[in-house]
Amino acid sequence: MVSGNGSATVVKQAHVAAESVFPPVFESRFSAGRGLRLIREDGAEFLDGVSGTFNVPLGYDHPKVVEAVIGQLRKCAHMSSSYSAPYARSVLAKLLRAAPANLDAGWMRDLTGSTANECAIKIAQKSTGKRDVLSLHHSHHGQTIFTTSISGQSMRGAAFPMVNASSVKVPAPYCYRCPYDSVYPDCGLLCAERIYDAIQHGSSGSVACMIVEPVLGNGGNIVPPPGYFSAVAQIAQDTGMLLIADEVQTGIGRTGQLFACDTFGVKANIVTLAKGLGGIGIPTAAVLMEQRLDVLEQYEHSFTSGGNMLALAAAEATLDVIQESGFLQQVRDRGRFLERHLRPLAENYSCVGDVRGLGMMWGVEIVGPGKRPDTDKTNRIIRCAEVSQRLLLRGSKYGFGNVIKVRPALVATEDDLVEIVDRLARAIQEVEACG
Ligand code: PLP
Repeated sequence: MVSGNGSATVVKQAHVAAESVFPPVFESRFSAGRGLRLIREDGAEFLDGVSGTFNVPLGYDHPKVVEAVIGQLRKCAHMSSSYSAPYARSVLAKLLRAAPANLDAGWMRDLTGSTANECAIKIAQKSTGKRDVLSLHHSHHGQTIFTTSISGQSMRGAAFPMVNASSVKVPAPYCYRCPYDSVYPDCGLLCAERIYDAIQHGSSGSVACMIVEPVLGNGGNIVPPPGYFSAVAQIAQDTGMLLIADEVQTGIGRTGQLFACDTFGVKANIVTLAKGLGGIGIPTAAVLMEQRLDVLEQYEHSFTSGGNMLALAAAEATLDVIQESGFLQQVRDRGRFLERHLRPLAENYSCVGDVRGLGMMWGVEIVGPGKRPDTDKTNRIIRCAEVSQRLLLRGSKYGFGNVIKVRPALVATEDDLVEIVDRLARAIQEVEACG
């Protein structure tokens, strides 16, 4: 489709060589992490604007999580998940008490978001007896063969013969580059409406579920417009498919609520969590679901290190911290503070096409003339931020690689946030000055 909205250029961008999507390999060797900062071996401090891989929401050394993990390590690092199950149940109970009301069962035998998503899809397929998985263009659901197959970007699967397009992918609610070349709200939410067509004409006729990131994280921090999720929920109800919210990035406070489902008022049947659940980067994951969907046998989804005791200790301590009185209110306040500082970038620099997000989850879209995604400039800004500003940032590999993610730890102070935006602005300036 040729579009005044950048879609034609975007189609060409799909052919951009993978290496230009990835920024150059960084060479810093870090030996310690303190709060929002990583310390290089020579003592130089780097401010982390993306909290690791968005999985360090409490900073690198939050004392309550560190103590919980060390305390558990002294007692016992691991026992078989059959024996750690009671401890997993107590973490799940804590999660479920704070989860959207329809979720009242859980599974905690995963350590990564990828396998948690596979677990959710097994649940959907087994409980519905159906097969297909709907997902969004630009989505990222993991790096196993199956989650690579259902993710909405071919670049990461191209080398692997077993990755197939067995899922049905539908356009994302990407208003800045509307896939239907329309404008909200006159568009009538075509991005949701056309899902009926995809099910009718593009699926096998046996659709088990649709999996959606409430905010498409790696795809470019795409925030759906109002009404999108209620339209999708209606489609799910009309077609008998389940709705899975992949909250691997958005969960555990990132959008200002413990669950982004609550932020958007989405009633998903299944929710997956990982990343932030470990607080300081300890790997752990969870799947929450409606009781009627608690259909898996233990032998159908369980890993050697799933339900690991250190992971459970980290998750429990993380939930305690995030549920402390005032914590999430502070995330919402700081999120608005960050927004106020980030938005002017779009007025001050012509290469900043859009600034979008919520809570502590923001994206800065870098463009050339005609809103053309400028992946090269994005990578240069990220590189310059690290090398000359000592600010760590990441790009949107599942979109066009031209969105700079800004996702600080949830414990960032206002001074940290000002410092992140100032250093980003200086990096943009420096790159702009070089042309
Ligand atoms: N889902 C989303 C939304 C993600 O962002 C990621 C990782 O970036 C995953 C799933 C996969 O999680 P993991 O890398 O822990 O397997």
